[in-house]
Amino acid sequence: MSIVDLFSQKTVFSFEVFPPRRNAPIETIYETLYELQDLRPDFISVTYGAGGGENKQSTISIAEHIKNICHVPSVVHFPCIGLTKEDILEKIEEFKTAGIQNILALRGDIPEGMENRGDFRYASDLVAFLKENGDFRISAACYPEGHIENPDKVADIRNLKTKVDAGAEYLISQLFFDNEYFYDFLEKCDLAGISVPIEAGIMPVINRRQVLRMAGLCGVNIPKKFQRILEKYEDNSVAMRDAGIAYAVDQIVDLLTHGVDGVHLYTMNNSYIAREIYKATHSLFNSGEKGEKEGTSASA
Ligand code: FAD
Repeated sequence: MSIVDLFSQKTVFSFEVFPPRRNAPIETIYETLYELQDLRPDFISVTYGAGGGENKQSTISIAEHIKNICHVPSVVHFPCIGLTKEDILEKIEEFKTAGIQNILALRGDIPEGMENRGDFRYASDLVAFLKENGDFRISAACYPEGHIENPDKVADIRNLKTKVDAGAEYLISQLFFDNEYFYDFLEKCDLAGISVPIEAGIMPVINRRQVLRMAGLCGVNIPKKFQRILEKYEDNSVAMRDAGIAYAVDQIVDLLTHGVDGVHLYTMNNSYIAREIYKATHSLFNSGEKGEKEGTSASA
């Protein structure tokens, strides 16, 4: 069954991982993958070049490992910034050879001072090109608080609709710490005629500096309640980790109560945190209207 078909049957639960840093052997992530596999996610996505220091070649190898060894569907992130059509066609061949079917089509962030941005300006161009050149199942990114480059939030939603119309079958959201932004966003998407499933991106925070950096880069609001947690526990790593897990659980419970299509956990390759969140929420994924009966699910 394709990933998009799962959304009509259940509340999807998925993870994101990133490849080991440059020079670190690919095997260093395997143990994490086996631990994540035990939590029965519906899919695991693998980032590509997002952190700068990642080994880009290993994204495909990790996605293959997730699919073939862990027997969990995998999704490859694919940013097209700086690539020509020929580069992309080459990559498409690599995907086909590796049996990669699921692609999160992205534009990618524009590095400072970049002159040549490649052949495609927007992710919607990549979505259309992938559809023309392969039999892929394509997803795309969305931004509940708006994309940081675009002050015009209405245009941002219109652009998202263009991306969906080009062939993105479901969307995965940017992280957010205030669920109200997500619910407002869902309403706007509905009004704009965007009817594909939208997964909520949740990042459990374990470090104050990391969250402030991420929030700054992404233009994400940090609610007062969360700011107080960051300030109080910044020097106590165990307390910070536990508070970060509790905050993420609280967000997820609220999202599930609102009947969201799915939850995508930015694991930061930390299986301990993923497991704690799974333990606290997995029974909720299996209850309610869309929930599958216990034991029949391939996921949480
Ligand atoms: P687009 O959809 O192209 O949007 C980019 C901007 O262009 C927006 O402001 C949009 O409003 C505007 N726009 C779009 N279409 C038009 C149009 N037709 N006319 C005018 N303006 C338009 N980055 C990585 O490098 N690697 C990763 O692995 C990665 N994974 C990610 C996973 C998720 C779930 C998310 C949310 C983001 C991820 N990113 C990753 C970051 C992403 O690459 C950046 O946020 C990037 O700045 C935008 O990518 P996009 O695909 O959303 O771009």
